[in-house]
Amino acid sequence: MSYVLPPADPVSISICGSDQRFAVHRIYCVGRNYAEHAREMGGTGREAPFFFMKPADAVVPAAAGQTAAVPYPSLTSNYHHELELVVAIGQGGVDIAVESALRHVWGYAVGLDMTRRDLQTEAKQKGRPWSIAKGFDASAPMGPITPAAHAAGIAQAGIVLTVNGSERQKSTIADMIWSVPEIIAHLSRAWRLEPGDLIFTGTPAGVGAVVRGDRMVGHIDGLESLQVKVV
Ligand code: MN
Repeated sequence: MSYVLPPADPVSISICGSDQRFAVHRIYCVGRNYAEHAREMGGTGREAPFFFMKPADAVVPAAAGQTAAVPYPSLTSNYHHELELVVAIGQGGVDIAVESALRHVWGYAVGLDMTRRDLQTEAKQKGRPWSIAKGFDASAPMGPITPAAHAAGIAQAGIVLTVNGSERQKSTIADMIWSVPEIIAHLSRAWRLEPGDLIFTGTPAGVGAVVRGDRMVGHIDGLESLQVKVV
């Protein structure tokens, strides 16, 4: 096989306790999956899950203990953090049942669904796609993946984001409207899930703006923390 242009290297994420890496296939994201955040975004707090996507190369991987440098994006003056539990899919499938969904999970990580909130608001008002608001370059900083076998308590874990040491978002995974198995079941009716897919599972209340120089630390109990500096 020869290519007219050299293929891009696969996007990959480090794994806790291993030198191997997790190659990324697609990135799915869930909208409004915590009741309090759904209300702060103008929703009712209970609606069927909806999804959007980011390109795989939007990932900015941060190795354990390292800080990812994330560039402040163009075209926005309201660049928001959304701290989220990320599910890494190990086994693909379609029409996956809630009862067997966790068998498809390879591991979990801490991620940030960075958002151009001003462009998202405009897209909503005009009925336009969210791609420019959600799927821009470097919009998905992520910490290392913890294998599911080492994250047994994840369904009850606390989730906290600090910006420059001040707490901005705080909740528990148990407060998600749609659980991880329910999300996988819904998603796999719409797309064939594949090994390497990532699912950003939605953010708790407290989203807000960051600027150049800000330092974010995302923490989920039992997982490696994510440290990001906006540059
Ligand atoms: Mn989000």
